[in-house]
Amino acid sequence: MGDQRETDVTEHPSTHGRATDPRVEELRAELSPDGLILGDGVEPYRRDRAADPDAGVPIAVARPTSTAEVQAVMRWAARHGVPVVPRGAGTGLSGGASAVSGGIVLTTERMREVSIDDQTRMAVVQPGLLNAEFKAAVAAHGLWYPPDPASYEICSIGGNIATNAGGLCCVKYGVTVDYVLGLEVVLADGRAVRLGGPLIKDVAGLDLVKLFVGSEGTLGIITEITLRLLPAQPPHRTLAAWFRTTEDAAEAIAEIACSIRPSMLEYMDRTAVNAVEDMLGIGLDRDAAAFVLAGSDDADPAGRDIAFMLEAFARRDPISAYETTPEVGAALEHGRRVAIPAVEHRGRVLLEDVGVSIPRLADLIHGVEEIAARNRVEIAFIAHAGDGNTHPLVVSDPSDADHEARASKAYGEVMTLAIDLGGTITGEHGVGRLKRPWLSRQIGDDALELAQRIKTALDPEHLLNPGTIFEESRA
Ligand SMILES: Cc1cc2nc3c(=O)[nH]c(=O)nc-3n(C[C@H](O)[C@H](O)[C@H](O)COP(=O)(O)OP(=O)(O)OC[C@H]3O[C@@H](n4cnc5c(N)ncnc54)[C@H](O)[C@@H]3O)c2cc1C
Repeated sequence: MGDQRETDVTEHPSTHGRATDPRVEELRAELSPDGLILGDGVEPYRRDRAADPDAGVPIAVARPTSTAEVQAVMRWAARHGVPVVPRGAGTGLSGGASAVSGGIVLTTERMREVSIDDQTRMAVVQPGLLNAEFKAAVAAHGLWYPPDPASYEICSIGGNIATNAGGLCCVKYGVTVDYVLGLEVVLADGRAVRLGGPLIKDVAGLDLVKLFVGSEGTLGIITEITLRLLPAQPPHRTLAAWFRTTEDAAEAIAEIACSIRPSMLEYMDRTAVNAVEDMLGIGLDRDAAAFVLAGSDDADPAGRDIAFMLEAFARRDPISAYETTPEVGAALEHGRRVAIPAVEHRGRVLLEDVGVSIPRLADLIHGVEEIAARNRVEIAFIAHAGDGNTHPLVVSDPSDADHEARASKAYGEVMTLAIDLGGTITGEHGVGRLKRPWLSRQIGDDALELAQRIKTALDPEHLLNPGTIFEESRA
């Protein structure tokens, strides 16, 4: 990072105190009351859920309430050459919202307005609203916003757009980008641009909306989103299947995914099942090698999809496979959603997000088992299996340096394995800071150089989220 971004601030008196740095007082004047956090108050904003040990200490946290305030913050940052890390709810799992020393964090937590138009079935929402709050707001209009990351109760819509989040029902209904019609984005120089808008079909110019979806805060700050909505989801039926081998489960998933469109097709291995059972005690089968949780919201009264899935399970001689009651189905779905926090009880988790095409799922599962055995570490395995997006969770013991080193080696080997299988290092969480070393190996030097040129064109000083996706220094 260039010298101009270094800061002289050495004193952070208190959250509400005055900073010794005149630049910080200048920033405070741009924001509405309580718009700035200083001193010890910045601590909760330094890291996302990945708990990046290399996260920096920001000089301040800015809490704008409007696009105009975000613009003022970016103009201030451009004037003084201060890096800005955008932040939603901080549930990210790739270090994409790690603070930068000498920079500021810009949190969208006070930008929470939403308006819903039943006529056009669209919503305009500010980025800080949580996914669950947004879902509830649209449900009150009899409508539905499908993207449902397992973290939907704690993550923001802005963070979802910036990472192009996936989730459980995305196997049938698509991921976040499939619902984004328009964005308002504040650029590095403080200009606000409107891209797309409330039109279902609109191909005027390059598709810049898609450029910003999944850009992890590196190209601009998303301040308003126009989202497409669907009619309320039809009633949903749930199947549970417990298998003797992980291969049996992967084969059943592959057969289902290439034949029908389930509304959920999730996977957990024995380690993950046991972690969830330790946490919730809901009667999961601790001995099964693998668990598949499937759903169908097909309106067909004959229930052909349900029958097809039960037959696909039965062909693999499962321990058991059955349709649940709605109550048990909801409990099992909750169990799948809390699998990450459940595994976190076993140690520090290095969370992978690798994806492969469905026919390679069994190879990935098997390869991860080999990596765990070779490195003598535990790797729990959960997956949005129906779209090939998996989460091997490498558990490390922070009190044992040798164990941590082996876990870290296994973390890299899983990404290399996914690339070798023609897959991706990240299916939905983003590259962030933690997966950046593997990016060029996946996408190639030419694609990375092209992306760097786009980054530099939009943010010549590399003020926006330096270190995420791209190297920290200017190209
Ligand atoms: C238990 C658990 C389960 C999870 N399950 C899933 C899952 O099923 N699917 C999934 O996709 N993810 C999942 N995640 C990861 C995480 O919740 C998502 O990546 C989510 O989209 C992040 O939202 P956030 O508001 O927390 O963003 P943050 O963590 O605050 O930020 C994420 C990234 O977006 C950028 N950003 C945030 N807001 C803006 C903005 N307004 N403008 C520009 N950039 C911005 C940040 O700089 C950062 O790079 C899970 C996380 C947890 C803890």
